[in-house]
Amino acid sequence: MQEINKLFLDEDLPAGRLVRGLAASGAATAAQLSKATGLGRSTVSTILGDLREARIVIDVDGRTNGFGRPSQLLSLNPDMGRCAGVLLGLGEIRIVICDMTHTVLSDVQIHLSRDYTPQDAADTVRRSLDAQCRTIGISQEKLLGVGIAISAPLSFDGKVLNSDVLPSWAGVDIAEIFASRLDCPLHAENESHCGALAEMTWGAAIGEADFVLCKFDLGVGGAIVRDNAVVRGVNGSAAEFGHIVLDPQGPHCRCGNRGCLKGHVAGDYLIRLAQDIIGEPVTIDQFVERAAEGQMVYRRLIEDAAEKAGWGMGIIGTILNPPLFVIAGKLAAIGKNFLEPLERSLRRYMLPQPENVSGLPIPRFVVARFLGNDDTVMGAVALVLRQHGKIASRPM
Ligand SMILES: [Zn+2]
Repeated sequence: MQEINKLFLDEDLPAGRLVRGLAASGAATAAQLSKATGLGRSTVSTILGDLREARIVIDVDGRTNGFGRPSQLLSLNPDMGRCAGVLLGLGEIRIVICDMTHTVLSDVQIHLSRDYTPQDAADTVRRSLDAQCRTIGISQEKLLGVGIAISAPLSFDGKVLNSDVLPSWAGVDIAEIFASRLDCPLHAENESHCGALAEMTWGAAIGEADFVLCKFDLGVGGAIVRDNAVVRGVNGSAAEFGHIVLDPQGPHCRCGNRGCLKGHVAGDYLIRLAQDIIGEPVTIDQFVERAAEGQMVYRRLIEDAAEKAGWGMGIIGTILNPPLFVIAGKLAAIGKNFLEPLERSLRRYMLPQPENVSGLPIPRFVVARFLGNDDTVMGAVALVLRQHGKIASRPM
């Protein structure tokens, strides 16, 4: 256990690169690891031999004599390390523990008051993690790390820049609050960036080194992935697509600007519109169901929203020309009544692509695997697996 900890965290050792490559992918062949790490095939083969002898790396099918074949699928020994992901949500905290093969070992949801404090959250996470670790037979300090996902942009050192979802958390230092209660490395990121990491690890973007994720849910968010890494920007607020200004004279937004994309597209705006029209409360799940069925009011609302969302995505597409758009969030679960006008609008507003030149790639458009809230908590686990967003290395 000590050894995998050291390897996992050592950025310079070739063996550390291989261990992190396997942690990110869950399972891979020697050839895939060579490509992912940039290490030569013979170097990979030698290191894998040592790691296998130390039982850090195993054959996925459990056989012991297949090693060395280039097509043999390998993984880290699941007993060698565990990672935890924490979602700090609205009125709830969810904590998942996975092993190194990406198998979920424990998944707990805890309901709290909507205005829970950072201290409440850290105490709750500590208590629950201790209990969850006991259940799976390890101690909490043996975790390779804890990833924390929060619905707010974060600075690189884990300070909450602002928050619509948890307003009292603006300015909170996540490292300071959590590191005094947890005895392992800490990572933190905003929920849309975590969503992209979840899709890269378990979902629609496995093996995709470059893509753009657009998340349409109660709010609007996104992520830009370049060379297998989430782009964070100069202060951590990259890809806040919900705040692309479409109309400088439009409604005021909490960010301080006017006419932001989310003011036309966010689920909480759409359900308010639906409520005003039909005169009774509507939940986001009801909205999604009725829009999917094509009920008249909902269909018009979602088509108008898709037109605006595609306009925003067209701007992103023109600037980045990405190979892939991944559409996430509950509104994507509406299906074709949202996705078809969205893709049409995207292709109308993006720089027209050379579709008649054979063999030339053009941006693809796919739906995410995670359309509920699972992307965020699984992405929090992936923060540790992919060593992204570290805010504290050891207890303060
Ligand atoms: Zn805004």
